[in-house]
Amino acid sequence: MPLIVQKYGGTSVGTPERILNVAQQILDSQKAGNRVVAVVSAMAGVTNQLIELADQVSRGNQPTNREMDVLLSTGEQTTIALCSMAINAMGGKAISLTGAQAGIATDREHTKARISNITPDEVHRLLDDEHIVIIAGFQGKSPEGRITTLGRGGSDLTAIAMAAAIKADLCQILTDVDGVYTCDPRVVLDARKIDEIAYDEMLEMASSGSKVMQSRSVEFAKKFGVRFEVRSSLNNNPGTIVTEEHPNMEAVVVRGVSIEREQAKVTIENVPDSPGVAARIFQAVSDAGVIIDMIVQNVSKTGKTDISFTLHRSDLTKAEETLNPLVEELGNSVFIETTKGIGKLCVVGIGMRSHSGIAAQMFSALADNGINIQMISTSEIKTAVTIDESQLDKAANVVHTAFNLSSES
Ligand code: ASP
Ligand code: MG
Repeated sequence: MPLIVQKYGGTSVGTPERILNVAQQILDSQKAGNRVVAVVSAMAGVTNQLIELADQVSRGNQPTNREMDVLLSTGEQTTIALCSMAINAMGGKAISLTGAQAGIATDREHTKARISNITPDEVHRLLDDEHIVIIAGFQGKSPEGRITTLGRGGSDLTAIAMAAAIKADLCQILTDVDGVYTCDPRVVLDARKIDEIAYDEMLEMASSGSKVMQSRSVEFAKKFGVRFEVRSSLNNNPGTIVTEEHPNMEAVVVRGVSIEREQAKVTIENVPDSPGVAARIFQAVSDAGVIIDMIVQNVSKTGKTDISFTLHRSDLTKAEETLNPLVEELGNSVFIETTKGIGKLCVVGIGMRSHSGIAAQMFSALADNGINIQMISTSEIKTAVTIDESQLDKAANVVHTAFNLSSES
């Protein structure tokens, strides 16, 4: 009998009615002749509410990560019990397991633990006994048996890792969208659902803002070769298969366009063009926990150069505060300039490895529409630009059209 792992996200289990709906779907999958393991998230909003509660009792102090994990894991624990109850009430046979009970072992990094290994003996035993197994996403246990969590969005990782551990025949990530689209359908109205996408493309799309799934889970799936489907829990439409790349995939040069809002840019002007300067700048930024994205350094003509980088707008103040003392040290002609209101747009596709002219085509589409490019960065399978945020939606539409992404390939 085929073994399937299904993951239901927070929206899919967001209300009692939706939990009943999920219970029915799980039962249907079982009736269709499968053994079913379901991984569930906390009900929509619950993780955030728990964080809020922690805040309220901590009087401005930072609660320990250990206690945060004890707290946050309760969100998923609520859902597994409710899902099992719902299935049982419908005449099915379900049992819930916490991450620890399901054999998910992690390192000790509370709030962002990594899975170290999975011993799914209990899962197998219950499946052999014809149970539906409902597993709490996002959590595991440290070597000492403490509760750990896997970072925001970590239920995806639980599902993918569990699918690998029990050698499931199929892993489905059920969510509130129909799959991965050629661009955000709220922005590009004729965006199309992608039938099949390679892990690397999915990673580029995700890290560039198309947050269908947690990036770490896609990396994990790639590493262990877990083929999975992203589909909606709210209808029966086929979703997007995420898988290893195969030669046919290269026929489509651009798989999708992704956009990211609320970016900002920091430029440090007149920095001495000598070894170690960039290292010091980026070490300082990284020590402050600021995540940076694109980096551009100009060719220097006068022994001085400008270094720019982009980051999320919410990190801008922190970056400035961190860099101010360093800038002073570097000399009095050095200064920082910051810009908010920046958006990022990327075209992604593994076919770009073997095709040329993609950048030219993208830049012309932008130019024809009077959209100015500020920064450019590329990888083997991606070309990204930053532009004025107010032009981002328009840019997404013109680039999407330029690559003909709305028509079936
Ligand atoms: N409940 C956790 C979160 O909101 C994990 C998840 O939903 O995947 O981040
Ligand atoms: Mg979630």
